Amino acid sequence: MEKRVRPCTRILGSMAILFLGFLGGEPARGQDRDALSGEVRSYLAVSSPVVALENVLLFDGTGGPARAGQTIVIRGNRIESVGATGEVEIPSGAERLDLEGHSVMPGMVGLHNHMFYYQSTPRASQMQYSGPRLYLGAGVTTVRTTGSVSPYQDISLKGAIERGETPGPRILITAPYVISPGPDERLRDLGMYAIRDEEAARRYVRYWAAEGAEWIKAYTQITREALGTIIDEAHRQGMKVTAHLCSVGFREATAMGIDNLEHGLWANSEYDTTREPDECSPNYQRSIAELDMDDPRVAETISEMVAAGVAMTSTVAVAEQATPLVPDLTERDLDALPDHVVEAEMERRSIFRTTEMPWMINLFENMLDFELAFVEAGGVLAAGVDPAWGALPGYGDQRNFEILVEAGFEPAAVVRIVSANGARILGLDDELGTVEAGKLADLVVIEGDIELRPSDIRNVRLVFKDGLGYDPNRLTAAVAGQVGVR
Ligand SMILES: [Zn+2]
Repeated sequence: MEKRVRPCTRILGSMAILFLGFLGGEPARGQDRDALSGEVRSYLAVSSPVVALENVLLFDGTGGPARAGQTIVIRGNRIESVGATGEVEIPSGAERLDLEGHSVMPGMVGLHNHMFYYQSTPRASQMQYSGPRLYLGAGVTTVRTTGSVSPYQDISLKGAIERGETPGPRILITAPYVISPGPDERLRDLGMYAIRDEEAARRYVRYWAAEGAEWIKAYTQITREALGTIIDEAHRQGMKVTAHLCSVGFREATAMGIDNLEHGLWANSEYDTTREPDECSPNYQRSIAELDMDDPRVAETISEMVAAGVAMTSTVAVAEQATPLVPDLTERDLDALPDHVVEAEMERRSIFRTTEMPWMINLFENMLDFELAFVEAGGVLAAGVDPAWGALPGYGDQRNFEILVEAGFEPAAVVRIVSANGARILGLDDELGTVEAGKLADLVVIEGDIELRPSDIRNVRLVFKDGLGYDPNRLTAAVAGQVGVR
């Protein structure tokens, strides 16, 4: 596809300022195009004030069937019109891109998309440089950090992206992980904070609310009492709570009013009959692997979550990494990772493929069945990469799409999971998540047909965020050898 670079104009800048005047809260606001740094501009392939994407195969994010021969008109940072080619009026002066042979979907909304990468050593490295470029280049235009090891780096990065200083997705900040004292407190190496009394729990929530965090993430070892206090205080502050659970079951957390649960069935310990209340049992994953999915307890969990409106986040790409099914590292993974990380990762996967826990395959299959049943029952499922091991930022979000299609979801339904459902959980669905007139112009242009060949989702050719079209190849080339370093 032909790539065109146009300089931004003064007129365009004042138009963006006009939009800023009309729109309120972050992050769904227009970027001031005049304020873009030279570096951000260097990644732009399309920056005309009016752009028409013609003859595309459109997956609009609503879950409805794909529509061939569609045209999308973008004006400034918004979608102006969408419809059949020939019926949609192309404004004079529009930059027209004939995209016959391309799929278009909404920008992905990654709900478990840390700005750090967890490698096999084990070590967590902040991805202040590589993370935002790789997410954006792979088509992820909005992320929730869902646990932070360096919250002020995340907050500073969010500000720099919003001011146009550096390229990257829209970011919703999650506070540092919160846990209860216990064996998992060793994870304070990931910057986790152990709550020791009610006052500490409330102080922690209020502090991070004031600093701009919109979500709290509880982690594995947390007591029901601490989790309940955190949910109560977060809701008082207008924040939401999600968790990677272990010491508390899904039904318990649902009854407490939690908003979102991470990792799906993988993190639900409630079927382990050996688990002590408020404690994380070492056997619980085995209990999930051995679970009969027709066990009535499974349907009870799902119906209680759906009735309470508790959303779930699928992280199947990283889960696959922890099974003997782990796929080979691809060329693009090897490009993005430095040699020392690749070596450590090769060693890790050789263990997982041979000696370690073949029953993890059963766990993985039950996890996929649970997600199908949850959606079938009316649950809101979103997805995120949880960048670790061979699941890289953005690339792992694309792998989620492939795995969920293999699991039995329709491709259009998975587009909804990776875009509109995430926007809905974040409360941004008025502005983002579907390709509809009036919404912000966050779109992914993919060469190929993601319904016929789901792996075509890797062939991203343009990523629009706020109506600006980024060249994914320039973004990914910039991070060569940098994931796990900076
Ligand atoms: Zn995570």
